[in-house]
This record gives sequence, C-alpha cells and structure tokens, in this order.
Amino acid sequence: QFVNVSKEFVNKDDNVHALRELSLTVEKGDIFGVIGFSGAGKSTLLRMVNALETPTAGQVLVQGQNLAQLSPAELRKTRKEIAMVFQQFNLLDSRTVFDNVAMPLKLNHVPKAEIAERVEELLKFVELSDKRNAYPQKLSGGQKQRVGIARALATQPSILLCDEPTSALDPKTTDSILQLLQKVNRELGVTILIITHQISVIQKICNRVAVMENGRVAEQGTVLEVFSHP
Ligand code: ADP
Ligand code: ADP
Repeated sequence: QFVNVSKEFVNKDDNVHALRELSLTVEKGDIFGVIGFSGAGKSTLLRMVNALETPTAGQVLVQGQNLAQLSPAELRKTRKEIAMVFQQFNLLDSRTVFDNVAMPLKLNHVPKAEIAERVEELLKFVELSDKRNAYPQKLSGGQKQRVGIARALATQPSILLCDEPTSALDPKTTDSILQLLQKVNRELGVTILIITHQISVIQKICNRVAVMENGRVAEQGTVLEVFSHP
C-alpha cells in the first residue's frame, strides 16, 4: 500500500519529482498492473516496494508494515518475501541455467541436496528441465525470462515485482510468459505487481490497474473500469 508517497530526486542542476502524493493499494492475490509512459515514475514505485528507493514523504506498507519503521532485521525478513523479474532478465552468463536458479538458495545457505531438489522442481514448473545445463547465451529471450522467473521463485516469495517483464520479447513469447505469470499467481498464490508500457499486458493478465502520469495515479480500478470507457 502506498499512502501519499512522494519522491524527489535531487540532482546537481534540477530536482525531479518522480512520485507526487501517490496512493494505491495492491491486495493479496492481485495481478496488479501499473502502466504509463517512460518517465512516469513506474520503476521508482516498483523499487520502493522492496526498499531499493525510500520515499521523500508518505508511507509504503508491505503486509501492513510501514517499511520505514522496520528494524534492519525485520526489513531483511520482509524483503525475503519479495522477488523481482527484470526486462533484461539479469542472468549470470557465466553460469548454467541450474546455477542461475540455485543462486538465491546458495546465498541463503540452503543445503546442497535441498537446492538440487528445489531447482529441479522450479525448472519443471517453468518447463525448462531439459535446459538445466545450458548457458544463458544459448537460450531464446522467452527461455531466459523463464529462468529469471524460476530464480525469482526459488526463495518462495509471496510478492513478485515484474519490471517490464515482456518488453524485450516478441508477441508470441510475450503471451507464453504472461501465461506463466498467471500460473505463478494461481497455483502458488503469489501476488504480482507488474509495470509495463504495453496495454496488452494489462488486458491479458491483470485484474487491477493504475495508470501513471507524471508521478501521479491518473486512474485506478479494475481493468474493465479503466479501459472500458473513452
Ligand atoms: P525505465 O525508463 O526503463 O524505467 P530508466 O532509464 O528510467 O529506465 O531507469 C533505469 C535506472 O536508472 C533506474 O535504476 C533509475 O533509478 C535510474 N535513473 C533513471 N533516471 C535517472 C537520472 N536522471 N539520474 C540518475 N539515475 C537515473
Ligand atoms: P518510468 O519507470 O515510468 O520510466 P522512473 O521511475 O524510472 O519512470 O523515472 C521517473 C522520473 O524520475 C524520471 O524523470 C527519471 O529520470 C527520474 N529518476 C529516476 N531515478 C532517478 C535517480 N536515481 N536519480 C535522479 N532521477 C531519477
């Protein structure tokens, strides 16, 4: 939940108001879409959910907790509930598919046998078991994003933040990735917040949407409410 959130970036010769008294609520179980042109403030909003950015004013609440009031230990715990998927996939090119997906588990000191079991399960879920030993350069964009999604799910997050997850993909691949995100939402119960400039993404999988303009929410509601009138 965002309550009157503003964010001002102070630069050398100008200040940028990236968010202006923005309020919105994402409910548990939503696939919530944020749409807007480049520069509208979408990335800044998304990055605030896992405290990569902090508000200049207002509050960001995750699972009812004001992020600004959490102790470092509490914040670490909350951030473990949140994972991210990127436009450019952000895979490690020098590691295999298996190792990319295993990375967050290794960082969390999960025992090796458990990692192997969990990674196989995840690769099956994203339908990439046969690519476990491939390196990212050998994969298509859609396959790379499947790896990105498997890696994000490794730590069993309850919230998935998606930053333009299909903007680097062709339309057919886009549809298959959107279907996979829908499966993540339905079968794993993960709440999804997705930022995009593509209206089709919103129409295909989101139940609620906020339209951002110049750091503000111009409109928000169900996808039908927001896109069914002129
Ligand atoms: P997008 O439009 O795809 O969201 P941006 O180019 O706006 O991507 O942002 C990419 C990264 O650069 C983000 O981490 C953002 O915080 C940072 N960034 C964007 N604009 C500026 C700026 N004027 N000065 C410094 N960093 C910026
Ligand atoms: P979007 O994701 O919708 O493209 P952003 O949140 O990336 O929008 O950016 C919103 C505004 O904030 C832009 O004018 C951008 O240049 C500015 N901005 C983003 N990050 C930074 C930063 N780290 N420093 C300075 N300005 C930034």
